[in-house]
Amino acid sequence: MNENLYNLLSAHFPKDLSQRFIETADAATYSYADLIEHSGRFGRLLSNLGVKKGDRVAVQVEKSPEAIFLYLGCLRIGAIYLPLNTAYKETEVAYFLGDAEPTVVVCRPASEAAMGKIAESAGVSGVLTLGQDRDGTLVERSLDLDPEIGCVEASHDDIAAILYTSGTTGRSKGAMLSHRNLGSNTETLHKLWGFQPDDVLLHALPIFHTHGLFVATNCVLLNGSSMLFLNKFDADKMIELLPRASVMMGVPTFYTRLLADARFTRDVCANMRLFISGSAPLLEETFQQFQARTGHSILERYGMTETNMNTSNPLEGERRAGTVGFPLPDVEVRIADDDGNILATNEPGVLEVKGPNVFQGYWRMPEKTASEFRPDGFFITGDVAKIDERGYIHIVGRAKDLIITGGFNVYPKEIELCVDAVEGVGESAVIGLPHPDFGEAVVAVVTRSGAANLDGQSIIDSVKDDLANFKVPKKVVFLEELPRNSMGKVQKNVLRETYKDSFT
Ligand code: ATP
Ligand code: MG
Repeated sequence: MNENLYNLLSAHFPKDLSQRFIETADAATYSYADLIEHSGRFGRLLSNLGVKKGDRVAVQVEKSPEAIFLYLGCLRIGAIYLPLNTAYKETEVAYFLGDAEPTVVVCRPASEAAMGKIAESAGVSGVLTLGQDRDGTLVERSLDLDPEIGCVEASHDDIAAILYTSGTTGRSKGAMLSHRNLGSNTETLHKLWGFQPDDVLLHALPIFHTHGLFVATNCVLLNGSSMLFLNKFDADKMIELLPRASVMMGVPTFYTRLLADARFTRDVCANMRLFISGSAPLLEETFQQFQARTGHSILERYGMTETNMNTSNPLEGERRAGTVGFPLPDVEVRIADDDGNILATNEPGVLEVKGPNVFQGYWRMPEKTASEFRPDGFFITGDVAKIDERGYIHIVGRAKDLIITGGFNVYPKEIELCVDAVEGVGESAVIGLPHPDFGEAVVAVVTRSGAANLDGQSIIDSVKDDLANFKVPKKVVFLEELPRNSMGKVQKNVLRETYKDSFT
């Protein structure tokens, strides 16, 4: 059987191909017939440029429906789709191209000259461009090509895409995802989240990341339904379009930004069936405020580039704030210590996963890959978590963010929850900084809420009663805003770098 992901998805396209797949913010529409035609032409052009099965096609373009068709065109010819964050600068792109050795790179029209030089030194033979207005050489050069390209035979472990991780904890790694990794996860989520034939998904996520590209887009494709497609999050547009949507997937910052807007009301959400959050922790406070404002409980799930999605709160049944729910039906999850011993209920340890969703390894990093897997095939996620008595999984933080102070382990999340509860605190990020006596010292980086005139000592005094001495922040730093990347993840490595000399 052809296990090509496109083959799986296209079996679920609507019978009537004139049905809508995408409607953009400026009301341009694309049908499933358009999808098949454009992805066919793009696939044909890439083949004409020498792209064969297993070759990489690197893509750094702004979000557009054509970029989705390019992804699907790559699947159809068996090429490995390799999207790059649009924020990456030239030197970073040069690294990725040198690492991935793509056959063709597709870039923004304005970057054509610069990309041409990078491509030349990386030995990439073809450079194409794609803009946001159905423009660029990818579109122009494929206009007259025959779109009938079928769908190349792929087996379950053939690589469909390489996605670089977000680089929150260090240099991004290329995760090799097979057709089966992506297909199985899409089928699981589609069923678990109860997709309905007439669902309309509001899509405002970037499409260079697993959340917007795979979780959101693949679920829509497997459902044969449509999405309202915004190039980026824009509160005005979201509020205008929500009444026509039934499902939204977002990062936590989408939810806080919607809540900050008085026009975001229960009425605006009247047609909504499901709000899903992921990619970064959703604050309990946000969950509760959202419930009070709209009557909806946000469904939080947890995943990563390497594994697709691993856990989810239930569609039916209680969605618990501050948790990421239960393992997906085909995913095994366990919590272990550093030596691989399984830990008891409520004990925090490293979360390990196994299942058809787990990637094939890091691109050209066999040693790194080997060191992240246990002998029995479980992948060590690097996230610290615990499972409570009801089976709900709580993400406590990242192993790399664990603070060791005076020989004691401190999980930042515990301190953050205490600091966040202090009157006048907006939000906080707790980090460990080099300290001559303690090895690391606990430091809280805090934003103020509203006009609060809060000082560091009063925060320290407030949390003292609830925390053992070694957990109490030695220092509080105030910022207007916490540094976040494009997925709304707090960049603790940036904070650690900025304040590294605080005690030395
Ligand atoms: P890098 O691996 O390069 O340091 P990254 O881990 O941030 O970057 P991604 O694969 O985009 O790159 O993110 C996966 C991580 O995001 C998870 O390992 C986890 O730490 C975090 N995450 C995802 N969903 C949630 C969630 N619901 N709650 C808490 N954390 C989450
Ligand atoms: Mg990671």
